[in-house]
This record gives sequence, C-alpha cells and structure tokens, in this order.
Amino acid sequence: MSTGTTTVETASRNDKVTYNQLVEDFKKLGVRSGYMYNVKASLKSIGYVEGGAKTVINALLEAVSPDGTIVTDSFVNVWPLPLSAKHAAIISDRNSPSYAGAIANAMLKHPDAFCSSHPIQRFVAIGANAEKLMSRHTPESYAYNALKEMAESGYGRNLKIGTDEKVVGVGTTHVAIGMMKFHQDRPPCGVNYRNGNGEIELFKRNWAGGCGVGFNKFIPIYRERGAILREGTIGQAPSKITDMAHTLAIELEILKENPAFFMCDDPACADCRLTWEFSTGNKLSVNCHRALRKLRRLLGSLYYGRQ
Ligand SMILES: [Zn+2]
Repeated sequence: MSTGTTTVETASRNDKVTYNQLVEDFKKLGVRSGYMYNVKASLKSIGYVEGGAKTVINALLEAVSPDGTIVTDSFVNVWPLPLSAKHAAIISDRNSPSYAGAIANAMLKHPDAFCSSHPIQRFVAIGANAEKLMSRHTPESYAYNALKEMAESGYGRNLKIGTDEKVVGVGTTHVAIGMMKFHQDRPPCGVNYRNGNGEIELFKRNWAGGCGVGFNKFIPIYRERGAILREGTIGQAPSKITDMAHTLAIELEILKENPAFFMCDDPACADCRLTWEFSTGNKLSVNCHRALRKLRRLLGSLYYGRQ
C-alpha cells in the first residue's frame, strides 16, 4: 500500500506500482468475488503502473475472481446531425475506439471482454455476469440500462479510482436522471451503426445527459447515509467503493424533492444554466460569464508573460 506521501505529479518509474501491489490494494479496499464493479478510474492517478491499464485490469480480475464481474463505460463519439459525409462514413461497432480513457480501451482489447451493442453508450465487461449483462444493453435500451441493472441486482458496486474532482460521479446519477424522465434540450447528435439485419442505420442520441460536475454534491450525503462502503488508496489514487442500489435510492429521493440538485454552480455552464426543463439561467448571463472568463485568462497570460 502506498504511503500517500508521493504525489501523482512526482510519480516516476522509481515509484512504480506493481501487479501484486494492485491486487493487495484492491483486496484491502474491499473488492470481492461475487459482486459486479462499475469501474470509473483515472489511470494517471494510480501512479506509474508497470504494464499500464492492462495490469490494472488483470489485478482487478484477480481480486474479483472467480464469481465477480468488472464493467466500465467505453462510450463512442457522436456527431452533429445531419451527419457530414466524413462522419457518415464512421460506423460504430465493437471495435470503435472509446474516448473514455486507457482502462476502457484496454478492456475492449481483453480476450474475455463482452461488449454491449448500444451504438453510443457502449459498456464493456469481463467476468461471471459479463455476457448476460452486456447482451441486455442493446440499441433499444435506455443509455445507462447496464448500470440500472447492476444497481437493482443489489450486487452492483461502484469502484472509483481517483479523486472526486478527477473522476466525477458514482455511476448511478445518470440512471436516476433517466428514471426521473428529466427533459434536456441538446443539439441533435448521432452515429451510424449496423442494425440487427446488418444494414447501416443512423442512431440518434435519445437521452438526457448532465455536465457531471454537480454530481459530487451527492458525495457528503452518500457518506452520511452509509452508501460509501470503503475508502482507501489504489496505488497513489484515493479510491472508494459505493453501493449502487443505495446511491441510486439516495439520488432518486433527493431529485424528487429538488430536480436541479445535480447541477453545478458555474454561472458559465450552458448545460446546467440553459438546457434543462428546470434551468433558470439565460443565454445573455451565460455568455457574459464566458466572455469575462476568457478576458481574465487573457489578462492573466499577458501579465505572467511579462514577468
Ligand atoms: Zn454544469
């Protein structure tokens, strides 16, 4: 276990985190066989890992074996509609790269991985329940259905590796937003994919999102109500395990009272201030805050440029 005295910035090959240390860290944090873990991880936060993302995945699999499952999002880029000729030529499939980071892309390449067939919010899983869970997340499913199923099973756990600022959310807030049927106006986006008959079809984004920054407002409430099961470190990364059924129940209870609770407080955030049915901001105010921010940055760089 890391002493936590070495910061991520100063991590070097001399501080390398090994496979054995990771297995030990995962076990100490409480990762067990029999549960399904939704992994949200910042690889960089762990430190210099010998073998990279692949080592983290193999150590996790060792900790959850033989009856556990690991799941992560491996979402695919969307494009504005109507699709340009360039974007129309991109076909989303099992092999499409994900923007979700190193762990997601390494999981996609794992020989034992199963992928969901959702053309945009694609999940990938390895382990005992991977095939069953992924086969039920299809183009017809709600975008976050895989996480909903994990939460509702009672065996779903969220494993966050990295600080709350670096890795936002615990996997269930989007599920809660979907279950609440909140409406958000977003520019139409989509991607081409092959449907069940092998024909190329346009898949349009059909769910509400969320900027994610405000999702951390739930953290103190999870803690207070016992939904955070364990906290510790994986390598050098502060990490936590939460009970997905419990975090989802808390989110639903709070959002019923206050639908806007998940929003961030940034006056320049167009997503939170302008796009939701209960957004109370206006375009002029958001644009002014954005312009002011740009100006401050510009003045700051001029000032420091002269130093
Ligand atoms: Zn926001």
